[in-house]
Amino acid sequence: MSKLSALDRNRCIERLKQIEYDLLVIGGGITGAGIALDAAARGLKTALIERNDFASGTSSRSTKLIHGGLRYLKQFEIALVREVGRERAILHKNAPHLVPSERMLLPLVKDGSFGKFLTSLGLMVYDVLAGVESADQRKMLSKEETLEKEPLLDESVLEGGGIYAEYRTDDARLTIEVIKTAVQYGADCFNYISADDFIYENERVAGVQAKDQLARKTFTLKAKSVINAAGPWVDDLREKNHSLSGKHLHLTKGVHIVLPRAKFPLKQAIYFDVADGRMIFAIPRGLITYIGTTDTDYHGDKNRILTYKADVNYLLEATNNAFPSLKLTMDQVVSSWAGVRPLIHEQGKSASEISRKDEIFESDTGLLSIAGGKLTGFRKMAERIVDIVAKKHVDNYPDADISSCTTDKIPLTGGVFSGAKEVKVFKSSLVKRVQQYGFNEYIAFYLVSNYGKQSDTILSIFDGLNDKDIHQRFVKAECEFCIQQEMVFNLRDFFIRRTGRLYFDIDSVRTLKKVIADHMKAKFKWSEKRKEEELNLLDQEIWDVSTFEDV
Ligand code: FAD
Repeated sequence: MSKLSALDRNRCIERLKQIEYDLLVIGGGITGAGIALDAAARGLKTALIERNDFASGTSSRSTKLIHGGLRYLKQFEIALVREVGRERAILHKNAPHLVPSERMLLPLVKDGSFGKFLTSLGLMVYDVLAGVESADQRKMLSKEETLEKEPLLDESVLEGGGIYAEYRTDDARLTIEVIKTAVQYGADCFNYISADDFIYENERVAGVQAKDQLARKTFTLKAKSVINAAGPWVDDLREKNHSLSGKHLHLTKGVHIVLPRAKFPLKQAIYFDVADGRMIFAIPRGLITYIGTTDTDYHGDKNRILTYKADVNYLLEATNNAFPSLKLTMDQVVSSWAGVRPLIHEQGKSASEISRKDEIFESDTGLLSIAGGKLTGFRKMAERIVDIVAKKHVDNYPDADISSCTTDKIPLTGGVFSGAKEVKVFKSSLVKRVQQYGFNEYIAFYLVSNYGKQSDTILSIFDGLNDKDIHQRFVKAECEFCIQQEMVFNLRDFFIRRTGRLYFDIDSVRTLKKVIADHMKAKFKWSEKRKEEELNLLDQEIWDVSTFEDV
């Protein structure tokens, strides 16, 4: 049985209680996941705990791009552009199905952010700094060529365009695959366990008082080093450690809205100007097109971040300005997501101006905290903080066999492909296979981009089921895989974080939720009451992403 099987949790938790770990990571977003993988691969005995589901914080609410950081160039953050450029190339190599390239169109309009010359120069510098391969390098386009790429653009103000290299991903799937890979290297990773307080020995942090949120039991978890990777909650834990002084977090909210592809039939991902001087993305993905993001200071509830009418209006107005023939309206928006960026506060800077750089803080009692940064830079962030932990460990235990960072060479689970070409071949073979079952091509795209090579396992589970309706049979196979290998405990884990269906195919959540609720009821031996409660919690999430109220 996989160490990430939801059916083996209690036994695994008993083991967790017995061990003194070299490193305990608090937080199962991309930052914590990356740290757990790096540390485990170096030979440190590592545990990770996440108080909710993996990626339930900011790491399921990003723009889902692995950026080269074009906007950082505008802010002259040259080192950051260089680093994230290198990082995305590594990520693409280690998970080409999950981090495919996505050519981004930058339309040039009358009185826009940049003229043709500056854009061409900027994109050229970006290519050099981000180390973009020659085939992917920027190309400047005439007005006609730009319109050919994207006929929906406003011809009356368009002057031309540039096309440059970006990569897209699914942030929550990236997080779960990094966690699964960490587990393969020996880490013990758990969702639904919170760090409620720290324990100390000789005035040094020596572990945490943990709580199993499913069994509602508290226990002590011991570790030689502890890293606080709690994203927007980093300062809450620093406060518990009595070390919240000096630099602190500045949370800014970002919203994305989702429209059916038929309503916004964008041919091509695009990064375009907003009248207030900002820029936003519109990205076609499977059945939908999503638009984002906003960037506003946030002081509300971090556990329930909502999309308000004003957020939707801002994004629709910007989009209708750039694509006037669309005339998009709020009732066409089928889903959305909202998240907060855990940035490091900089005096006098507005939400959009604050640097996205990461920083590490060490408290007097030895608690290491990490905040800021991007999804894209998670591997390098992990390397920097695990370097500190590994050095300390070797200083204290000179015989310990701890290697240096190797994560640049570790393929993520599901991503054992030689490159993008092999992904394409694999996808073509899947298209034929799913068509034989009666599915259309979309299911092959969905399987490959979510699960990579693991699609084979899901289809073999599918082969073993005998439901008449192929869509119900498929979603049950998928759910079974996620229960057995990805610690899915409820409908929200499955429909939001593991499959992204709440955002990318919300209708399928409405039609399939009861099938999955019955499947989970049987699997987890839920009572009828528990099943209804889980359905209500999912309905609340559907309401939150698709109903937009005034603030
Ligand atoms: P989180 O994902 O929030 O993880 C922290 C975790 O800690 C949470 O899951 C939380 O439940 C857990 N936790 C908190 N307290 C405790 C506790 N006491 N015990 C146990 N667990 C605890 N980056 C990019 O590279 N590309 C993009 O396109 C991009 N777009 C973005 C768009 C928006 C709108 C936003 C908001 C961010 C975007 N980012 C992007 C940035 C990126 O998403 C974040 O930097 C990243 O996801 C932060 O990950 P994290 O692990 O630090 O935080």
